[in-house]
Amino acid sequence: MAFGVLAIQGDVREHLEALRRTGVEAGTVRTPEEVAAVRGLVIPGGESTTIGKLAARYGLMEPIRRLVREGRPLMGTCAGMIVMANTIGAAANDQPALGVMDIAVERNAFGRQLDSFEVDLEVKGIEGGPVRAVFIRAPVMSAVEDGVEVLATHEGRIVAARQGSMLALAFHPELTDDSRLHDYFVKMG
Ligand code: GLN
Repeated sequence: MAFGVLAIQGDVREHLEALRRTGVEAGTVRTPEEVAAVRGLVIPGGESTTIGKLAARYGLMEPIRRLVREGRPLMGTCAGMIVMANTIGAAANDQPALGVMDIAVERNAFGRQLDSFEVDLEVKGIEGGPVRAVFIRAPVMSAVEDGVEVLATHEGRIVAARQGSMLALAFHPELTDDSRLHDYFVKMG
């Protein structure tokens, strides 16, 4: 069975390439049947309101929740992390969300001056030195509940966390050629 990348919007191709570099098969996902068939799923960055609305329109919310219940891995990067959260601060009106992960997120948390930036980030569970983390109008996790393990912080703010088979990243691991986080993800199932 292959891994899937939700192909509604965002940097789908980069995630497919990063997954394939880890040695697994990966393909795009747009239908409930495709969600049901994947070994694990990535929700890429992009615009969380758009991704949420289209995922709801295509009938993908319940199949993705089922994927989580079944323990198949789910990773959300940036906008994908927002769509996974159970609480979205400053949510756009009628922003549909999966609400599968016990985190509160704040959108565009680094402000306008710091629209995008890169830092070297130590991530718990990732060996071999820091990962280069690319942040683009990035959210942060403003709170996490019990059962959520914080994997990385930047300036005291939570930017990577895991809960069971779910991985939430405020940054874009698919935009560098370091696939250690994708490797970590494919081994979570
Ligand atoms: N700011 C975007 C949002 O709120 C996320 C940005 C991104 O995914 N690079 O959806």
